[in-house]
Amino acid sequence: MSYHNFETEAIRTQLDKTEFLEHSVPLYLTSGFVFEDAEEMRASFAEEKQRNLYSRFSNPNTTEFVEKICKMEEAEDGYAFSTGMAAIFSTFAALLNSGDHIVSSRSVFGSTHALFTKYFPKWNIDTSYFKVDEVETIENLIQPNTKILYAESPTNPAVDVLDLEYLGKIAKKHNLILIIDNCFATPYIQQPVKYGAHIVVHSATKLIDGQGRVLGGVAVGKKDLIREIYLFSRNTGPALSPFNAWVLSKSLETLAVRVEKHCENALKLAEFLEAHSNVNLVKYPFLKSHPQYEVAKKQMKLGGNIVAFEVKGGIEAGRKFLNNIKMCSLSANLGDTRTIVTHPASTTHSKLSEEDRLEVGITDGLVRVSVGLESIEDVINDISQALSS
Ligand SMILES: *Cc1c(COP(=O)(O)O)cnc(C)c1O
Repeated sequence: MSYHNFETEAIRTQLDKTEFLEHSVPLYLTSGFVFEDAEEMRASFAEEKQRNLYSRFSNPNTTEFVEKICKMEEAEDGYAFSTGMAAIFSTFAALLNSGDHIVSSRSVFGSTHALFTKYFPKWNIDTSYFKVDEVETIENLIQPNTKILYAESPTNPAVDVLDLEYLGKIAKKHNLILIIDNCFATPYIQQPVKYGAHIVVHSATKLIDGQGRVLGGVAVGKKDLIREIYLFSRNTGPALSPFNAWVLSKSLETLAVRVEKHCENALKLAEFLEAHSNVNLVKYPFLKSHPQYEVAKKQMKLGGNIVAFEVKGGIEAGRKFLNNIKMCSLSANLGDTRTIVTHPASTTHSKLSEEDRLEVGITDGLVRVSVGLESIEDVINDISQALSS
């Protein structure tokens, strides 16, 4: 039987049953697999036979997880990683050569930015950046040695939205590999492959797990590129553990209902904040006031679970707001069932100069909320009392 609906595939894509006819897929906590004889072992290592050899290469639980993500992202193939950063680093490392050039959005995850600025230059790989609101400058940055166009949308922590269709067109015109970090949206909200992304990367640690339990990452996309990423990874060892793959694959069964509720809650919070007198600005893709509202409506099914807003009174007011929070968590994670608030200017982005912070939309009073699955009434009450005191 075939089915192509997102929720059904998330639930019904599963490994074949064992002789015990279990209903829930078991955990294959094994580092290696055995062979019938020397010939089978030879043929397996020569890749004449497709099967599991060793869990650094593949494992039934990671295979199931990857297969689900491929269906959800409408991608051809994929490989699962121990973390989102392992997925991002391995993707670049597998596809780039010394002397290649990257064009990237300036608003990327902090550790991705560290790859571009601290590590890739060691291997003679340079990166040029465009601002999220100046995508029309991308073509000016492309050089003869540019190989990859890279972006996240929505961005962290300022929740800007980039036009994926436009990025896809530029990549095609200049023969670049378009890589999109789809962590903030999840495949339930947007599928970058539809707009021409060649590779989609995820931190599965966030909304895919959704309960703040395990780390994980995944890269999916074009078969030939995934093959390069797989060969690099099977030798260098960033593989996802079977246990985490088992947890994450089960998490995907509830992704659709969780994301629906996260987004419903986030929109309610965004609307509340927009009407609050101690708030200067609210950024949420599905608010009409968002600078890229039209683009968001075009490419996103829902607005996501991240709301950014600016407390009146700058850095001190931001810090004070965090101190007054009673129920919501102060944590660096996001995409959890629990609502999390952060103040980037005094924490995650405090090492940046003010100028660099403003370049990526982090004003002094900016607060990022990862809206959870608690009753939104209680989340709003907590944020409301923290804003008033
Ligand atoms: C968290 C995050 C990452 C890194 O993922 P880890 O699983 O923590 O390694 C990459 N990109 C984005 C957008 C993230 O939010």
